[in-house]
Amino acid sequence: MERNFDKFIKKEYDLLVVGGGINGAGLAHLAGDHGLKAALLEKGDFASATSGKSTKLIHGGIRYLENFDFGLVKESLKERAIQLKAAPHLVRPLSFIIPVYKGDKRPLWMMKLGVFLYEGLAGKRSVGKHRRLSAVNISELVPGIRREGLLGGVLYYDAQMDDARLCLENVLSAVEKGADIANYVEVVSFLKEGGKATGVLARDVLGGAVFKVRAKKIVCAVGPWANHLLKKDSYRARKIIRTTKGAHIVYKGKFSDHALLLPSDRDGRIFFVIPWMGHSLIGTTDTSFAKNPDRVETSPGDIRYLSESTKRVFPDRDFSGKNIITSFAGLRPLIRRKGSPSKVTRSHALVETKSGLVFVTGGKYTTYRKIAEDTLRKVFNRGVKKPFRLYGGGKISVNRDHAARKYNVDPNTITFLMGKYGARYEDVLAFVEKDKSLAERICDCSPAIRAQIAYSVGREMALTADDIILRRLTLQFFPCKTNNCRIQIAQFMQKAQNT
Ligand SMILES: Cc1cc2nc3c(=O)[nH]c(=O)nc-3n(C[C@H](O)[C@H](O)[C@H](O)COP(=O)(O)OP(=O)(O)OC[C@H]3O[C@@H](n4cnc5c(N)ncnc54)[C@H](O)[C@@H]3O)c2cc1C
Repeated sequence: MERNFDKFIKKEYDLLVVGGGINGAGLAHLAGDHGLKAALLEKGDFASATSGKSTKLIHGGIRYLENFDFGLVKESLKERAIQLKAAPHLVRPLSFIIPVYKGDKRPLWMMKLGVFLYEGLAGKRSVGKHRRLSAVNISELVPGIRREGLLGGVLYYDAQMDDARLCLENVLSAVEKGADIANYVEVVSFLKEGGKATGVLARDVLGGAVFKVRAKKIVCAVGPWANHLLKKDSYRARKIIRTTKGAHIVYKGKFSDHALLLPSDRDGRIFFVIPWMGHSLIGTTDTSFAKNPDRVETSPGDIRYLSESTKRVFPDRDFSGKNIITSFAGLRPLIRRKGSPSKVTRSHALVETKSGLVFVTGGKYTTYRKIAEDTLRKVFNRGVKKPFRLYGGGKISVNRDHAARKYNVDPNTITFLMGKYGARYEDVLAFVEKDKSLAERICDCSPAIRAQIAYSVGREMALTADDIILRRLTLQFFPCKTNNCRIQIAQFMQKAQNT
């Protein structure tokens, strides 16, 4: 596949961002929004690494209270409020239940105190009022939960998001503000003058072209690859991050309309069972990982840990293969500190090298906007003033049934489009106006329509079938008997590449 990179070659940018996960995308967005000439290069697809493999929570992180990380929790709760406002189609409030059993390491009083503190730290940004639950309440709200030994629990509120699309919307916002962005372009080395980094040598992963990109400042938001890229700056460089692996499984069907926060009986660690696209997202694990970040995957041990830990609370659930729709694993790029993985802080730090490169380390998805703000302040000595807006944010003007009639599509599809594209959903339907056949569903397994494939390629920079399946439309969470959706998308991509 031949692509044209002339625009990257001709300019000198104020800022070049390496990495198109949430931290790179958020930074390019904020930089563009504040008048900087910015570029971003991503070696895979946007959110194809950690930022598409998260637990999908925009949260303060109630569990960090037991590490006394109050500053991080407060900062995250502030960011939660900003994201809920900026992208209501992608970030939504969600209720969580914490059931407590006889003999649990964290007793009921501790959980009550925890949710009280959590809500207190959110202050006026609280999403909903917490409440205590009796064992009977919990059994009613969570069908199939083990009753034996159940003492009661608490309910509190947090937020859930679509991680891959939130990342993509930051990319699209950045492009809208004038940033030049390319996926499937890897930074292979740094260009230097007088010891200072002045640009990069980049390689088109799909076509093989190699070209130079020049910039006054370079920020590496490469997540788990930070130690690897740092070596390309100086082979003597010391490691700046520590990576731990987190795996998830997706269980067929919902356990409850509420998310559950549970301790594992294996090691006492907390994990979640979360309603997700009609199914249940279960995770995560947290284990040290020192291998090549390109090769992270879910192991049978990860699946066993999550299945057995959940089965303690849901003894009648069958965790055999047929009920596990999919699984995925990602790496946390944590600030390099000693201690057990779960105890290492999730706060962020910016590391500047002698050559002037800045590396983003640590952080949570939730705090990406703050990380971008701190980076702009450090690198350009400039504050962030404008309100934070996202590509699909803003009011949806036309109601669902009206839109369904106008474009002759199923109302469920309109709901699906509104949930994915927010106020921009009619941009997708504009493709239907030009070609009525694009109103057809891609497959029986989901409400997605063919116009979304065309939109992913034409407007959302999708270059491979997986970019569409896994990150633009997230079809991996819709079990499919025929595989027709995959076939249709692959055929569309082949046709697009041949024309
Ligand atoms: C299992 C798990 C669950 C999590 N759950 C949550 C959660 O629910 N809520 C929350 O707030 N946080 C969560 N986190 C943390 C959060 O997901 C991460 O902090 C965040 O996604 C990191 O984003 P990033 O952009 O730094 O890294 P990444 O998303 O990994 O992005 C880095 C990008 O850099 C690219 N890259 C690397 N080298 C190069 C190169 N040479 N040239 C070009 N590109 C390059 C990579 O391809 C990659 O796409 C979770 C983390 C894990 C692992």
